[in-house]
Amino acid sequence: MKRILIVEDEAKLARLISRVLGEEGYVAETAGDGRSGLSRALTESFDLLILDWMLPDRSGVQIVRGLRAAEVGVPVLMLTARDQIEDRVEGLDAGADDYLPKPFAFPELLARVRALTRRPWGPGEDGKDGAAAQLAAGDVVLDPVRHEVRRAGERVELTAKEFALLATLIQRPGQVFTRSVLLDTVWGGSADVYTNVVDLYISYLRKKLDRDGEPSRIRTVRGVGYTFEHRGPVQEPGAR
Ligand code: CA
Repeated sequence: MKRILIVEDEAKLARLISRVLGEEGYVAETAGDGRSGLSRALTESFDLLILDWMLPDRSGVQIVRGLRAAEVGVPVLMLTARDQIEDRVEGLDAGADDYLPKPFAFPELLARVRALTRRPWGPGEDGKDGAAAQLAAGDVVLDPVRHEVRRAGERVELTAKEFALLATLIQRPGQVFTRSVLLDTVWGGSADVYTNVVDLYISYLRKKLDRDGEPSRIRTVRGVGYTFEHRGPVQEPGAR
């Protein structure tokens, strides 16, 4: 059973979202202001946060920043008013995973919710434990069960979307993935996710994974898409 926290000060809308999610089998809870929303998200375990951008006491962006600063990786779907669409990059930069402009249609909300609560690995639909081996390419290791990424042994903090994107690429190092395949796999094919979202997230991953002065681990294949490079740190022949 997936738990979702809705942080929204418009009580009527919060109730409506909560009811629709409940009908779909989610356990939906609500917080009517930013302070209680943030404190619940920090102290309880949710599978998703639906977060209004404009709250009376603090902005949704401040809440996401607070969560990410505390290393809480819960996926976050931001609700934004039409006239804030230009600010969406600010929300994504702060660590939100997706956004949905108001007013929205409920089937669209549900599609985003499904995509964000879907885990790339872990216990599968068949009930089998997905404790499959870690995925590795060079010195980058992704653990699908612990939801952890390490580079040269050092933990790299990724948002849910960044993790899903890296997981997709790293499961087949060297294979070229087109933007539309990545959009489908990682964003659940949400039709109106703006088209450069893949490029934006690739740039986030590069910032977190690459080292200064070294070529990026994620190579752009011009006109096609992206591939995760197989190579790791160079091993000196005969080195022990
Ligand atoms: Ca509001």
